Amino acid sequence: MSSGKESYIIVGAGIFGVSTAYYLIKQYPNASVTLVDRDAFDAETRVAASWDWNKVVRADYDDIVYCELALEAQDIFKSDPLWKPYFHETGLIWTCRDDYGRAVIDNYKRLGRKADIKVVSIEEARKMYGGLFDSADYTGVKEVLINPTGGWGAAGDSLRAITREVLRLGVKYEVAEVATLLLGKDGQCSGIKTTKGKVLKASHTILSAGAYTATLLEYSAVNSGLPNIAAGFRVVAGGITTGMAKLDDASHAIYGSMPVAFQGYTPKQGPFIGSLPPTPGDHEMKWWGPTIFKNTREVLPGHFVSSPPPKPDYAQWEVSPRLKDDIKHANHVFYGKKTAHWKLEKHRICWDAFTTSGDFIVSPHTASKGLYIATGGSFHGYKFFPVIGKYVVQMLEGRLSPELTAKWAWDRQRPDPALSPDFPRFEMRDLVGPVRTSKL
Ligand SMILES: Cc1cc2nc3c(=O)[nH]c(=O)nc-3n(C[C@H](O)[C@H](O)[C@H](O)COP(=O)(O)OP(=O)(O)OC[C@H]3O[C@@H](n4cnc5c(N)ncnc54)[C@H](O)[C@@H]3O)c2cc1C
Repeated sequence: MSSGKESYIIVGAGIFGVSTAYYLIKQYPNASVTLVDRDAFDAETRVAASWDWNKVVRADYDDIVYCELALEAQDIFKSDPLWKPYFHETGLIWTCRDDYGRAVIDNYKRLGRKADIKVVSIEEARKMYGGLFDSADYTGVKEVLINPTGGWGAAGDSLRAITREVLRLGVKYEVAEVATLLLGKDGQCSGIKTTKGKVLKASHTILSAGAYTATLLEYSAVNSGLPNIAAGFRVVAGGITTGMAKLDDASHAIYGSMPVAFQGYTPKQGPFIGSLPPTPGDHEMKWWGPTIFKNTREVLPGHFVSSPPPKPDYAQWEVSPRLKDDIKHANHVFYGKKTAHWKLEKHRICWDAFTTSGDFIVSPHTASKGLYIATGGSFHGYKFFPVIGKYVVQMLEGRLSPELTAKWAWDRQRPDPALSPDFPRFEMRDLVGPVRTSKL
């Protein structure tokens, strides 16, 4: 690997793929590195989970590995001129219905990190930020985590900018839909074939196709006659609804300097939901909802996989009334009646790759030489954009720490999905019905 003459095809130009391209080309300026994506990097809209308006950038993890990794990423977001324009340090507020906040504070301490991070009572939280969250739903809340060092990243803007930078550094970008991996009878991977029949060959193929990863592996398993290529239970496509409200000047004067806000729930209750501050130019505030779902469909005769809808845009703008209602619910649990009159629009179903532990997959594929997997964002991957590629390159070189090698392995012990609040619990076909009102 050290000659620098190797060739790399990276399928998927989301944060996993682009960050990998960035670290590869920095380390091996003479290597051939090609990103392949179905969407142009500067397209008006993209299917990538990483393509979006605003995404949370936080280090508030009860898992110390992600806490440390997120701090490493945040340091880059805050200091490196390439990333700095896209980070907004608004701070964050997080209602905790268990001991999550204390576990986060403990992790900061163990990592020797100084920040004005604390838990406050519900009464205090109601008064903070000019009473912005005085009407929030505090049912079952034990305490509220406050971290002034968190914030959000301009996701789509940063993705475009860093992709531009990797192109400037010599990475190639091919707009094409990958139909299958090229696999020999012994499982050796030599590249990819696009749906238009174009073949691209490389010594290393890195699959960072996000929510489409399992589908592409299923196609490749069937095409090659090698069933062990398939993902099986390792990584599953899941969808979540986001929605936005465009604030008028009066509302923007109140919410313009708000922190990122979370409603945290116990694993039994369900996933945490969030409210993101308005974007600077368009004054658009964003929420994501509590329902995370699969879309299990027959991708090939007899082969059932959770896969985004089979349309070029994943049908991401076709959001059912039931799922739009998720955003209404999210608005309500943060601001109560105060913002109930806001027009919620720009609903999008965002598809990501989920693992049952929420741990990424950054690993050689155990059934194929030359094939590597870097995915599994599990609804929390964006914030690692500035660093994840460094670890993917370490994996490619066999230098990844034993701890991360085990945590992010293709083959590893996987916890029961029932224990994970973020693992998809529903099927999309069951969510097309009428509006649910019980939670409001
Ligand atoms: C609603 C929502 C909100 C989120 N909010 C946050 C947040 O606030 N903070 C945070 O840190 N994380 C957040 N995440 C998670 C984060 O966005 C993802 O984990 C991360 O962006 C995943 O990046 P990726 O590179 O794995 O996949 P993606 O960004 O999805 O990229 C995969 C790429 O592969 C391409 N591709 C797929 N199949 C093919 C094919 N066959 N041929 C060619 N190209 C292909 C796609 O076009 C796409 O560009 C959120 C996710 C969602 C869904």
